[in-house]
Amino acid sequence: MAVQYYSRTEIAGIRRAGQIVMAILEELRQAVRPGITTAALDALAVRALKRHGATSNFRGYTPVKGIMPFPGVICSSVNEAIVHGIPGTYALREGDILSIDFGAVVDGWHGDSAITVPVGTVTPEAQRLLDVTQEALHLGIAAARGGNRVMDISRAIQTYVEGEGFSLIRRYTGHGIGRALHEDPTVPNYVDPKMANPLLRPGMVMCIEPMVSAGRPGTRELADRWTVVTADGSLAAHFEHTVAITSGDPDVLTAHSDGPLATSRSTSTSPSAGKP
Ligand code: MG
Ligand code: MG
Repeated sequence: MAVQYYSRTEIAGIRRAGQIVMAILEELRQAVRPGITTAALDALAVRALKRHGATSNFRGYTPVKGIMPFPGVICSSVNEAIVHGIPGTYALREGDILSIDFGAVVDGWHGDSAITVPVGTVTPEAQRLLDVTQEALHLGIAAARGGNRVMDISRAIQTYVEGEGFSLIRRYTGHGIGRALHEDPTVPNYVDPKMANPLLRPGMVMCIEPMVSAGRPGTRELADRWTVVTADGSLAAHFEHTVAITSGDPDVLTAHSDGPLATSRSTSTSPSAGKP
């Protein structure tokens, strides 16, 4: 599939989905505490989606034939789980870290974002992993400017994370998003000279999502065929935003409109935005 370029009106649609994703992720963050099960967090998200008139782009997702369709509306990945954890009976414990990946569809437009949340008090090393992964996302977003290339995002993330002594998961990547949850281009979290490296142009919308291991980068899939864990059992973290490329600052469609990642979208003019 070719890279899609979205008009300003279309990006406004993706933003509506993104803002609902952000609001529900905030609700989930506030609900995280020792004792709550990941299934209860999923149920909270199901109710919130309904309240917002949105649907899930995660539940029922089947990447390959023969795998059970994903049963949750959130992915809940605890400690050494990196991504794609299935919500269930596990009750969170003090000191866990929980990655929540969440998406929503509104009027056919997709949003996708992820956070990793400490459960109660976590070790300083776990907190540093969360801080580094979130900062890596911010640095990746800062590189997501029209005229740069996809690997500029990858390089910004990789240079910082490896400089902090952590590893980037290579098997899973960011992706384009818009009319579908996963579109081109692939947005890796490391530089690979063999991979496509498209120019970033206004109208492209992509999910930037560093996945970081406190140990080695290798991964393993659990018997449920979904949950991905670090092969060496190290803690892992994951942060993600849906970002539109403009001719100026990147426009974070899943950010709080008044938060630190808010852009000057109300004042910025990007006459070249839209289908080239
Ligand atoms: Mg996601
Ligand atoms: Mg994603």
